[in-house]
Amino acid sequence: MLISDQYNRAFKTLRVSLLSKCNLSCVYCTMGEDEVKENNIQQHPVSAEVLLKQVRQLHDVLQLETIRLTGGEPLLYHELIPLIKGIREMRIEKIKLTSNGFLLERLALPLKEAGLQSVNVSLDAVEEDIFFLMSKRNDVQRILNGIDAAISAGLQVKINAVVMKGINENQIIPLLAFAFERNIRIRFLEIMAMGYLHDNADRYLFTQEEILNTIRQQFNVKKIERATASTANYWKTADGKVFGIIANESEPFCHDCNRLRLDSSGNIYGCLSSNHPIALSQDDNEAALISKLQQAMAQKQAVKFTGSELSMLHIGG
Ligand code: SAM
Repeated sequence: MLISDQYNRAFKTLRVSLLSKCNLSCVYCTMGEDEVKENNIQQHPVSAEVLLKQVRQLHDVLQLETIRLTGGEPLLYHELIPLIKGIREMRIEKIKLTSNGFLLERLALPLKEAGLQSVNVSLDAVEEDIFFLMSKRNDVQRILNGIDAAISAGLQVKINAVVMKGINENQIIPLLAFAFERNIRIRFLEIMAMGYLHDNADRYLFTQEEILNTIRQQFNVKKIERATASTANYWKTADGKVFGIIANESEPFCHDCNRLRLDSSGNIYGCLSSNHPIALSQDDNEAALISKLQQAMAQKQAVKFTGSELSMLHIGG
């Protein structure tokens, strides 16, 4: 059954938030340590068995092409390996993960062996003091080692770096150099109006244009044509190195978004800008599920990302 809308958008990618617990306290997700402690006490992650049933239910209707596991921090999810193996058995073409990379060094190889193909590592700074400002944690080297371990394990690795005005814009060039040295893709993200930043993300917004201007001070760059449903715009340097910018604010990409989200409480969302959870039930028959998916499709924005008061920690980044 094809669930689509007037813009021909269909759900082909499912982003699954495994838990809303995280081992970092990044400034865009949380207001501080207290909020994180509270989250961490409340969390009782759903079992892999239940998650696999939900994914199968959705896959049977949607014929998904990609699953992205996220959170919270998905590497804190105890049943991650059996979960990935179970998804692989469903023959979903691509299994990907988004992680802060803190626990990646020892997990990269087992994840690859379980069937994971690629990992996006969130890394907003390579310098320790700026990394601390962004994440309230020390030891950025652990993440850098995690990235190298993932490359050695044969995972496809990308870096995602949120740029926040006044905090880490001086990390753009060092991050780019780190990625270029390893020949891996890096995408810089504009801050999004999510969670407690919903009404005041603007003050931290370092725009696509500002990011590009920073990079142009060091490199000649040329734009590459954007692929359908891609979250990022890409540019190439004169010596062929590619980087991207995810410009939710300056250049929203809602018009061809193919993503559906499943949070760690069994709710689906058709859009990051929606804070209206649609609860799945194991008792949903096909008609009920289709009706819920149509509601989720109706949540998609036509052109502009508007954000929501839900933190990405909960809805899944
Ligand atoms: N813990 C994992 C990680 O760090 O990749 C997965 C979840 S985390 C919420 C995923 C990513 O969402 C963050 O690293 C960041 O790139 C992005 N994110 C969260 N809130 C954001 C915001 N307000 N604006 C832009 N990006 C945000």
